[in-house]
Amino acid sequence: MQVTILGSGTNIHPTRAAAGYLFQTDRPILLDFGPRTLSNLLKTGVDRHTIQHLIFTHYHADHFSDFLTFFFDAVCHSKFAHVRPALNIYGPPGTKRLFRTIFRTFPNFRDAPFRVILKEVNDQPFSIGGTLVAPLPMTHSDQQVCLGYRLEYQGRSAAFSGDAMVSPNLVSLCQDVDVAILDCSFSSHAPGGSHMHAEECGKVAKKANIKKLVLSHFYETADRSNVVAQARRFFSGPVVKGKDLLTLQVGKASQVV
Ligand SMILES: [Zn+2]
Ligand SMILES: [Zn+2]
Repeated sequence: MQVTILGSGTNIHPTRAAAGYLFQTDRPILLDFGPRTLSNLLKTGVDRHTIQHLIFTHYHADHFSDFLTFFFDAVCHSKFAHVRPALNIYGPPGTKRLFRTIFRTFPNFRDAPFRVILKEVNDQPFSIGGTLVAPLPMTHSDQQVCLGYRLEYQGRSAAFSGDAMVSPNLVSLCQDVDVAILDCSFSSHAPGGSHMHAEECGKVAKKANIKKLVLSHFYETADRSNVVAQARRFFSGPVVKGKDLLTLQVGKASQVV
């Protein structure tokens, strides 16, 4: 299993794309599709027209907005070139209502000449090819369900918190994983609501006994502090500061390439 960070920032950030992650197991799986992540997806060399699985943690726009450009492009491409394979979209309760409204409303979206399959998930594991995907509700927003996801493939495991505060579910999601990518929106010096700061990420990493911690989803303020050192106060394993287009091998040595 391999994961490439398409976006390590938030909604508006001067140098980082917002949330987006490309997992590659026996097929590409996209987790979240925030602003500017589509440009980074193109840089990975993965053919966007072959992507059949999009998973959303929640629908704050910093995790979603590039879907619109992606989908419009997919419709145009398949009308004038080749029909693409079906697109499966997974997300928390509310996913069907949101996408049906989008497909009804945006020009040309209802003309897609390929199948779109909407699947609402909550806490029941499901499979994508040989990958087992286990969602769990996180604590983030009182207006919507926000899911974290754990992916397991060929004995390797990775967790992605989505946007999350510390919670028992987050610790369960990350328990013993090879790599956990956690919402580190803030430095411990300037914490904020609805998200974790770096020391909290370190505490979760220790409690869940993860093998490697990847900090991501930075607000600009987080970039002004040494968030890695803050996380290391509580977690003695390897800590990586996420950056756009960083690829990690999730495996034995969990190497950065
Ligand atoms: Zn959010
Ligand atoms: Zn966010």
